[in-house]
Amino acid sequence: MGYPKLVIDKEKLGHNVREMISICKKRGIEVCGVTKVYGGILEVEEVYIENGIKTIGHARLENLKDMEHLDVKKLLLRLPMLSECEDLVKYVDIALVSEIEIIRKISEEGKKINKKQDIILMIDLGDLREGIIKEEVNFYVEEIIKLENVNLKGIGVNLTCFGGVIPTNENLGELVEIGKRIEKEFEIKLDIISGGNSSTLYKVLDGTVPKGINHLRVGEGIIFGTEAGYQEKIPNMNYDVPHLELEVIELKEKDSAPTGEIGVNAFGEKVEFENIGKIIRCIVACGKQDVEYKDITPKNDKIKIIGGSSDHTIIDVTKSDKNIEHGDILNFGISYTALLALGTSKYVYKEVR
Ligand SMILES: *Cc1c(COP(=O)(O)O)cnc(C)c1O
Repeated sequence: MGYPKLVIDKEKLGHNVREMISICKKRGIEVCGVTKVYGGILEVEEVYIENGIKTIGHARLENLKDMEHLDVKKLLLRLPMLSECEDLVKYVDIALVSEIEIIRKISEEGKKINKKQDIILMIDLGDLREGIIKEEVNFYVEEIIKLENVNLKGIGVNLTCFGGVIPTNENLGELVEIGKRIEKEFEIKLDIISGGNSSTLYKVLDGTVPKGINHLRVGEGIIFGTEAGYQEKIPNMNYDVPHLELEVIELKEKDSAPTGEIGVNAFGEKVEFENIGKIIRCIVACGKQDVEYKDITPKNDKIKIIGGSSDHTIIDVTKSDKNIEHGDILNFGISYTALLALGTSKYVYKEVR
């Protein structure tokens, strides 16, 4: 296997999965393990399943299709496209929805294969990404229960994704209240009240998550060990599950500032360089085509990324206490954004070890 290589530590990931399940279980919350940011690596899905996850969430239907054979419930996170509904009823166990036309289409497709499709109706409580507005709740529930081949499994909310709205007692409490009202008025039972993503974890940790929330869709919290509301570390987790390995292709002592008449770089930017004399410059084989260099951090804190272009990342290794040579492999910590890019790049090798 070559480089760039995205490495996922199986033991550390497994620990985080078990720990997250246990943290949430104490509050009566089931964890849907969201693996979308890895792109879709079957070995990763297996780690989640082996460590107790019962539902996996992906944003792309293709990824759920690829794991059809795995013994786990499959939840589609992104609202389905009308053109996807035919596949949806085949490969998805639970779908998040918000448009009546699409829900009707799901029912129609479900009828063809004699399936009653579980759906979670998304409600927008201020973050302004997906979800129906509160005033539409009654209309939606009325229409949904008329449909033969969909089952209203529950309701859900998504927060801190677009508008940056933090989950609170008010908005989560409102979700619980809406759920209760639906159950009473329509005399139905909602199995799932899905209280959001990793940004709700801080309320699970401090014990203030409103009673009634019984489901969370957790990506970042498991993968990076952080809650997403305030970006705090969750105690007793691993914070370095994924890392990036890059190979050195050039290592030379050169000037710290360019020589010649200065125009713009390959990306049309005018870049300023501080002249600090000669430095040891190292090039690794990875560039913007794989990941933005701003989203990765060298594990060796004596070395510093200076910049990068499409296929190259340039690092100042002058102060490194380790001897670096071409052919060496350097390790980097990665952000959520970096993982998203690396996971979906065909140039990046992926290893679960
Ligand atoms: C990505 C996603 C999640 C998981 O978000 P994290 O912040 O990584 O926990 C949950 N719900 C929906 C609808 C998503 O798209």
